[in-house]
Amino acid sequence: GEFMLHYQPRVHARTGAVRSAEALLRWTHPERGLLMPGAFIDLLEESGLIDEVGQWAIDEACRQLSQWQRDRVPLRGVAVNVSTRQLHLPDFAERVLAALAAHGLSPTALEVEITESIFVGDTTIPIATLNRLRDAGVRIALDDFGTGYSSLSYLHKLPIGILKVDRSFVADLGQRDSALALTRSIVALARALRLQVVAEGVESRQQAELLEELGCDELQGYLFERPLPATGLADFAVRRAEAPEAVTR
Ligand code: C2E
Ligand code: MG
Ligand code: MG
Repeated sequence: GEFMLHYQPRVHARTGAVRSAEALLRWTHPERGLLMPGAFIDLLEESGLIDEVGQWAIDEACRQLSQWQRDRVPLRGVAVNVSTRQLHLPDFAERVLAALAAHGLSPTALEVEITESIFVGDTTIPIATLNRLRDAGVRIALDDFGTGYSSLSYLHKLPIGILKVDRSFVADLGQRDSALALTRSIVALARALRLQVVAEGVESRQQAELLEELGCDELQGYLFERPLPATGLADFAVRRAEAPEAVTR
């Protein structure tokens, strides 16, 4: 009962309209207070507890989205981070679809964020799991793109619909020409593969404008809002729907 989810909005790059929210795990530790995933996620992975906590996160995000829908919060969906370990569980896809059904949600309302670590080890089960989810309508995003193990030849073996440009590229935009060149290439690659592109870690208006010009579809970062408890995210989404703030002028 000490885990909870915070939610960070993802906005449309041109209009600034809120599209969805990414669920991010937090641990309210009885002595140490609010802990970020950096402080405990490796431990969950190593101990195997991530299977259980990760499943809880999916259930909880579905419960919350269904509540938001009842409250008429203008959000299309939620994104949940999933560890590669979870994708190796043979019944993972069925458990995700069961969570969606239990909360009366369409599978299209859920996005699953995976990382390039899926390519370490045997990929047969993880890819079958992802295909099953994709066929049911769940959207698959490749997170932290450009930092991991993927060779480009792997990209088309995954049923992904979205590429999330890692925030390390975004951070260097406007500082280093190479970051601009790399980001431009990632967006071009995504476009050629007909994937949606989301940039994360957007902190400045200059970054947002560059990313929009480069052709990113959606943006996420402190410029818009930090990860917030569920009520804060709902307020943000409602405020934005009433008074949209264009990202670029
Ligand atoms: P991620 O999935 O890449 O999530 C984005 C991280 O970037 C979040 O860190 C978020 O707070 C942070 N961030 C967002 N906007 C900005 C910005 O403008 N600037 C900077 N500097 N940072 C920004 P957080 O919440 O600490 O999460 C860290 C990582 O922990 C996540 O990275 C994800 O890989 C993992 N994680 C979080 N929740 C879960 C979960 O439920 N399951 C699993 N397996 N992993 C999770
Ligand atoms: Mg993520
Ligand atoms: Mg990321």
